[in-house]
Amino acid sequence: MKHGIRHLFIPGPTNVPERVRRAMNVPMEDQRAPDMPALTLPLFADLKRVFKNDSGRVFMFPSSGTGTWEAAIQNTLARGDRVLMARFGQFSHQWAEMALRLGLDATVLEVEWGEGVPLEAYEKLIAADTAHDIRAVFVTHNETATGVTSNVAGVRRLLDAHSHPALIFVDGVSSIASIDFRQEEWGVDLAVAGSQKGFMLPPGLSFLSVSEKALAAARDNRPKMERFYFSFDNMMAANDSGYFPYTPPTQFFHGLRASLDLLFEEGLDNVFARHHRLAEGVRRGVAGLGLSLVAAAPKWHSDTVSAIRTPEGVDANAVLRIAYERYDTSFGGGLARLNGKVFRIGHLGDLNEVMCLSALGAAEMALADAGAKITLGAGVAAAQAYFREEKQRATADAAARTA
Ligand SMILES: *Cc1c(COP(=O)(O)O)cnc(C)c1O
Repeated sequence: MKHGIRHLFIPGPTNVPERVRRAMNVPMEDQRAPDMPALTLPLFADLKRVFKNDSGRVFMFPSSGTGTWEAAIQNTLARGDRVLMARFGQFSHQWAEMALRLGLDATVLEVEWGEGVPLEAYEKLIAADTAHDIRAVFVTHNETATGVTSNVAGVRRLLDAHSHPALIFVDGVSSIASIDFRQEEWGVDLAVAGSQKGFMLPPGLSFLSVSEKALAAARDNRPKMERFYFSFDNMMAANDSGYFPYTPPTQFFHGLRASLDLLFEEGLDNVFARHHRLAEGVRRGVAGLGLSLVAAAPKWHSDTVSAIRTPEGVDANAVLRIAYERYDTSFGGGLARLNGKVFRIGHLGDLNEVMCLSALGAAEMALADAGAKITLGAGVAAAQAYFREEKQRATADAAARTA
């Protein structure tokens, strides 16, 4: 018999706060009831605050994030449209596969796994495209397979520098609501997020935040891909009055209400600062163990997930299995070409310092059991030192403010 909790340190689904779980535990409701819009309309408005999308609108699709990738493409692009993408991990790979399978003429740049969106290579292609054939540029904001965050604002700048009208698509599934994201300021046209990562909800709902420019692209006269379930038009017609064109997951809406309340009560800037602090503690722990990240340089470090290389000869899958079976702890596995070489610690969502210490502690035991020559406690100690420093600094800052 098991006691205590099973520790979940995968980069989604993340831990669901008790307040969110309780909020979802409601009897089934009439989705066409006259008071449903009182629940749904504020959710749309508040999601726009999370995306920092002032002028456009947000869709909620009952699907995982992958479905919403499809919605973004189908409503704004046509088969044969030229798009620019980069592949540097399993998620950017899947997005490129989708684009190709849906018939887009995708230029997919191959980038070292451990790096992110290649701004210089993007800029070369954008500069050369004086005919403006490229309709969209894709950015995987946070590549969850490698723990790499890319510079979205940099993509905006390079398009502006060449007065290029391409739409910017952002996969923000493992970044939005955890890492700074500013849709309006960065001129992002279509941004995808999922319920089960920074939003601290179960999997099954995803969000697509769309700019005015993308809505205009969806409406213009060019024929687009066929779509029905994911049609913006059908959604908008119902959403404007707070309803949906098909049965919506109403329990999710109560959970989302609670999760948005939690995010706003903490304050988005504080949420981002906490994610940075926790991530930095984990990174110190990894360094303390003498291990290395897949992320190739600090500028790529992700504040939501760390992909950690196991030492030569140590099977990362054995680390995962031992952590799960002996220590009731789940880590993320190495995906695709990183399989067996990498394990991932997800440090996003409803999480604090001591939880990160337990992740490092469990990782140390599993690594040692799998044959890694590490010093037990070295990772935990490095993270503890950093967390204490940060707390002391915060306490001193608060004292200085009230003095
Ligand atoms: C989790 C994730 C997705 C979407 O995955 P789903 O399982 O479809 O929700 C997409 N992109 C990134 C970067 C992710 O982390």
